[in-house]
Amino acid sequence: MRRPIIAGNWKLNKTIAESLELVNNLKRQLLDVEEVELVVCPPFTALAEVAEALFETNIQVGAQDCYWEDSGAFTGEVSAPMLKDAGAKFIIVGHSERRQFFSETDQTVNKKVKAVLKAGLTPIACVGENLTQREKGQTFAIIESHIKGAFDGISAEDAAGIVVAYEPVWAIGTGKTATPQQAQEAHNFIRKLLAKLYNDDVAGSVRIQYGGSVKPANARELMAQADIDGALVGGASLEAESFAAIVNNSRGVSK
Ligand code: PEP
Repeated sequence: MRRPIIAGNWKLNKTIAESLELVNNLKRQLLDVEEVELVVCPPFTALAEVAEALFETNIQVGAQDCYWEDSGAFTGEVSAPMLKDAGAKFIIVGHSERRQFFSETDQTVNKKVKAVLKAGLTPIACVGENLTQREKGQTFAIIESHIKGAFDGISAEDAAGIVVAYEPVWAIGTGKTATPQQAQEAHNFIRKLLAKLYNDDVAGSVRIQYGGSVKPANARELMAQADIDGALVGGASLEAESFAAIVNNSRGVSK
C-alpha cells in the first residue's frame, strides 16, 4: 500500500508572517491526519521558520527547487544540504514553471534529483506535457522523456523513494483539471514505464501525485483513481481552508 502524499507548492507567495499564520492554521485543521503524508513548500525565505513552527507535527516541509552543487561560487543559488539544514525533507524539482521560465532541462532536473538524494532528502520530480504537446498527441512521449531524464542513473533503491508529480502544464493555475480518467491514464503510463525501467517493486512503491488545479471539489474523485497517490497543489494551498478541505476530502477514498 502506498501512503498518499499531498503537498502544497506556495510558489512566489507569502512573507514569513503570512507563512506562519498559514501553517498555524493548518496545524489546527489537520491535527488528526495520519493516513495522508502532508508537506508544505514555502518560499526559501520562510522555510526555516515554517519548519520550526511545524517541528514534531504531522506536516513536513519541502523546498520548491535547489541547485545541484552543494556549495561554491553560484551566486543566488541554494543547495540541497542548505535546505536540509533549514528543515526541508522534500525538494520539488523540474516544476513546469522552472522548465518554462528558467530553462530547466531533463539534464538539469536529473542533476537536481541526484543532489536531493545525495543530501538524504526526497525529490518530488515533476513531469507533464503542455497543451500543444497534448494536442499533437505527444503526451506520452513527453512524459517518457521527463521520467527517463529525471531517473537517469538513479539506482532502483533510490528510485523507489522518489515522488513523481504528474502535472499537465495546461491544467496548472488555469482552473482546467485533467479528468480523473485522463490523469489515471497518464499515471498508469508512468507506473508501467517505471516497471520497464526498473521492476514491479519500484513501480509499485513510487508515489505519483497529480497536480493541476486540484480543488476541494475535485480532489476526491482524482484521489480515488488506482494510480493517483496524492496531489501537488498550487493555488488552493495558499489558504488553510482549501488545503485542509483537499486533504480531508482525500481521506479514506476507496480504490
Ligand atoms: C503547481 O504549481 O504545482 C500546481 C499544480 O498549481 P495549481 O494547483 O495552482 O494548478
